[in-house]
Amino acid sequence: MLSYAGVDNSHFLEACTLCSKPLGHNTDIFMYRGNNPFCSQECRQEQIEIDEAREKRWKIAKKSRTKTKVQTGTLVVA
Ligand SMILES: [Zn+2]
Repeated sequence: MLSYAGVDNSHFLEACTLCSKPLGHNTDIFMYRGNNPFCSQECRQEQIEIDEAREKRWKIAKKSRTKTKVQTGTLVVA
């Protein structure tokens, strides 16, 4: 992504991140996490929920992996 920063900088606000609706100069743009533009609060909110769900799944996956490791250790000791 960094390699495109210089080339595509003028394009990054052209469309909604979620629904790809074109964003004009006179339209309201809702920013999220610095560089993700959205056409509406609804689109931005949906992206926030998607991100939160993804982070939650990742945390649960990490937690269950740790648990499995501990159980295996206990098994070896017993
Ligand atoms: Zn949108």
